[in-house]
Amino acid sequence: MDKDCLFCKIIAGEIPSGKVYEDDAVYAFKDINPIAPVHYLFVPKTHICCAKKITAENSDVVGKIFEAIAKVAESENINSYRVINNCGEEAGQSVMHLHFHLVAGKKMGWGEQSLG
Ligand code: 5GP
Ligand code: ZN
Repeated sequence: MDKDCLFCKIIAGEIPSGKVYEDDAVYAFKDINPIAPVHYLFVPKTHICCAKKITAENSDVVGKIFEAIAKVAESENINSYRVINNCGEEAGQSVMHLHFHLVAGKKMGWGEQSLG
């Protein structure tokens, strides 16, 4: 846990969140500022700052996150969805704890303004 990290505090229960899924390695919760009818964030319980820091030692959790996404989507009958990872400031990463957005419930285009 990184004591200055917002998502570490959410995982630890120090900051409330709308939990949608949890297992030994993964935590998922509703985005506070949703861009679509369904907008969840899937995070590893261990602190990894961003996709740049995924290595052979810690990459198992990325597979577990995608397993968790598939489980949640199936249980909520979400047939079509988009998974997004923003890595770095220019790409729009605002919280420096690796996270994958699950976005669904609206027609999505493709390209720079695809989710606008
Ligand atoms: P990023 O921009 O880093 O890819 O995504 C960070 C996401 O975290 C944003 O979509 C933002 O709305 C969400 N977020 C920021 N602070 C909080 C919070 O305190 N609680 C929740 N549930 N989501 C948050
Ligand atoms: Zn963290």
